[in-house]
Amino acid sequence: MFLSITSDILSDQDAVLPEKRLIRAMELCRGAGFRYIDLNFATHVQPGFPMAAPGWERWADAVGETAARLGVSFRQSHSFVYRTRESTDMTIDRARYDERIRRSIRAAARLGVEWLVMHAADFDADPDYDFDKARRYNLNYWQPFIDLAAREGVGIAFENLFASGCHRRYCSTAEELIDLAEGFRTPLVGVCWDTGHAAVAGQNQPAAIRLIGSLLKCTHIHDNHCRPKEDEHLIPYYGSIDWPPILKTLAEIGYAGNFSLEIKQATRPLPEAVCGDMLRFLNALGREMIRQTGKEQ
Ligand SMILES: [Zn+2]
Repeated sequence: MFLSITSDILSDQDAVLPEKRLIRAMELCRGAGFRYIDLNFATHVQPGFPMAAPGWERWADAVGETAARLGVSFRQSHSFVYRTRESTDMTIDRARYDERIRRSIRAAARLGVEWLVMHAADFDADPDYDFDKARRYNLNYWQPFIDLAAREGVGIAFENLFASGCHRRYCSTAEELIDLAEGFRTPLVGVCWDTGHAAVAGQNQPAAIRLIGSLLKCTHIHDNHCRPKEDEHLIPYYGSIDWPPILKTLAEIGYAGNFSLEIKQATRPLPEAVCGDMLRFLNALGREMIRQTGKEQ
């Protein structure tokens, strides 16, 4: 298991220019001991950021060169994703959104990312939840992106979501996630398990992780108080998730991907001068959690 951390660690108010933001984040994470970084492309495709502009490939290559200089790799990363209600809204500029997903896939390929995390369209906006409709739509919608990712040599991992409104959202359970991933009939599609989303969705995490088994390719590790809709992204042990059975189960299924901390809230409110101190603590905490699985990197 390899300890990694999301690249989204700097505050939106930070003075670092958009094109330099990822490089600065990588320097801070590497300085705190992280050798793997979970690139969040969602930030970098926004207007004003490098991946929204023509020639974005040069920026991606500069990121790759910085990573090589620092000794940083990207085994798993996060694609641009539709916000929950947007995911089935046909009135928005779908072409522009879809292009952001394609750029995430192409950037992942340029940077040697093995697994790119996606959110399924969740059908939260529908008045009544219809599993068959959601399944059919997602299998259809994602196929061209999965074909593109396969041509580029990148795997796609669908992440577990959680109910944000009054009814279920597609892919909030391990069973639906497995069914979707297996529906594409290729080993290049797998699952990302988000511990915080699972807690909010009331999942039995050890049982779910056991069920996912070898389909598990990525993790998002963070905590919360297991209350509906409150996806707090807390530092592990600061919420109410019971960590030891989860850590034990990751080892039990032979999980050998990234143990990736997704806790931007721990650093983003801080002045940059002390961001590194928090990252060093998170690195020590992550290493201790991996040590407890018995599968040290
Ligand atoms: Zn996540």
